[in-house]
Amino acid sequence: YLKVIADKDTKGMASNLHFLIIPLMCPGHLIPMVDMAKLMAQQSVTVTIVITLRNAQRYGSVLDRAIASGLPIRILKLRFPAAESGLPEECESVDDLPSFNLSKNFFDASAKLQQPLEEVFGELKPKPSCIISDKHLTWTADVATKYQTPWVIFDGMSCFTQLAAHNLCVSKIHEKMSDSDPFILPGLPDNIVMTKTQLPGLFNSGNSAKAKEMKSIREHVRAAELGAYGTIINSFEELEGRYIDEYKKLKQGRVWCIGPFSQSNKNDLDKAQRGNKASINEHVFMKWIDSQHPGSVIYACLGSLTCLTPLQFTELALGLEESGFPFILVVKGGGRAEEIEKWLAEDGFEERVKGRGVLVRGWAPQVLILSHPAVGAFLTHCGWNSTIEGFCAGVPMITWPHFAEQFFNERVAVQVVGTGVAVGAQTVIHLGEQDTAGIQVKREDVCKVAKIIMDEGREGEERRQKAKYFKEMAEKAIEEGGSSQLNLKLFIEDIMLHTNKGLAG
Ligand code: UDP
Repeated sequence: YLKVIADKDTKGMASNLHFLIIPLMCPGHLIPMVDMAKLMAQQSVTVTIVITLRNAQRYGSVLDRAIASGLPIRILKLRFPAAESGLPEECESVDDLPSFNLSKNFFDASAKLQQPLEEVFGELKPKPSCIISDKHLTWTADVATKYQTPWVIFDGMSCFTQLAAHNLCVSKIHEKMSDSDPFILPGLPDNIVMTKTQLPGLFNSGNSAKAKEMKSIREHVRAAELGAYGTIINSFEELEGRYIDEYKKLKQGRVWCIGPFSQSNKNDLDKAQRGNKASINEHVFMKWIDSQHPGSVIYACLGSLTCLTPLQFTELALGLEESGFPFILVVKGGGRAEEIEKWLAEDGFEERVKGRGVLVRGWAPQVLILSHPAVGAFLTHCGWNSTIEGFCAGVPMITWPHFAEQFFNERVAVQVVGTGVAVGAQTVIHLGEQDTAGIQVKREDVCKVAKIIMDEGREGEERRQKAKYFKEMAEKAIEEGGSSQLNLKLFIEDIMLHTNKGLAG
């Protein structure tokens, strides 16, 4: 069946379609949806991406280049109602929030985009054949209903997570567990043991007023997503095939794994400008990384939202230093950046590691760094984007989950795929709660796992070979004839049939 689809001229027919993409304005959600827009437009589908003004600047160079190359992408810019929602004027992205206590305000502001979107919806030509929206924007389901178009959701997570979350919702096994009781996640193809405190917020939200507020948002999202037409997933069959099969069975086949999205960035400029303007001196940085031995550098980055406390940052930095390997350490201090800088200055850290360790303060061009042959390992917080970017790079990973479904992703890397080694974090630290969490990972843990991951013996070599294998699979998946490209064609065909049925009806 896949062969038949592959041989058809999907592109010719797809040019009549128009997908309206509505991302959540948060790097871990917007970045993959921009990549996804490019992949869909490469199949000749017209794609309109809804984006707010400041984000249009932030992601503009990548989008403008895609448009200039001839891809049928349109940008629909809307003003983000930050001030009306109790947010600072220029706060348009979750990583701009001065405090995660304002998360609800951010969701409220996002919901206020409904009216301006509906005001211009009728002018979108041709009429959108479907809406592909971040599932957290539940109001987009109402827009889809109003304009009689399928509501397809994307939430940037793996099929492992989708399946595990579904099974927990149904079995409620976690409700019978104490915080530290290990239990097997029900109904998964592998025996995956976790504790309640490692589960995502929907199952482990905490008791503070803010936690309860977030829980009610999550429950609302969960209820809405059950009504979606289908789900797009940033994953690929060769990576987590058994989980994809099981999840598809649950969703009557309406699941399309069309990743890894980061593979859509083919040239160095797209990789360098993905997600934000990189805060490195490119020339100096490239000179340094080019001078390192192949596979010798550990790249450590904990995503776009995780900010370590100064104490926890110190443990990470000293652990990397003690390991003796060259490293790149991305520093996101958030509100405590000054204290981190103070420690760095007083300790003389940078001076000591000069030539061997590089600090990146702010935004790192992650996909560009990961694609450099000098990088031999990735210390990651296991956001799904970073995890899948690690698989694409073909490097083993040191896994240090922090929040959301990141402990699930750690299990994917360590147990399902087998290219990760856990640093030993034990519990979710919800965003904004770092200060009360104490030190989760000590310098000796970082140093120990760095040595394991860089080990030149048999075990380390096997892990590296496995990582290389998945890199090849990731590359093939989105090429012509690859599993994800076929799935994308199946998705396009599904929407085409749906549209034609609508026209005939
Ligand atoms: N990212 C980046 N540079 C940074 C921090 C993050 O390019 O300094 C990118 C990273 O490549 C990934 C995304 O931002 O695509 C983060 O998403 P993820 O799901 O890994 O984690 P989150 O930031 O949502 O916790």
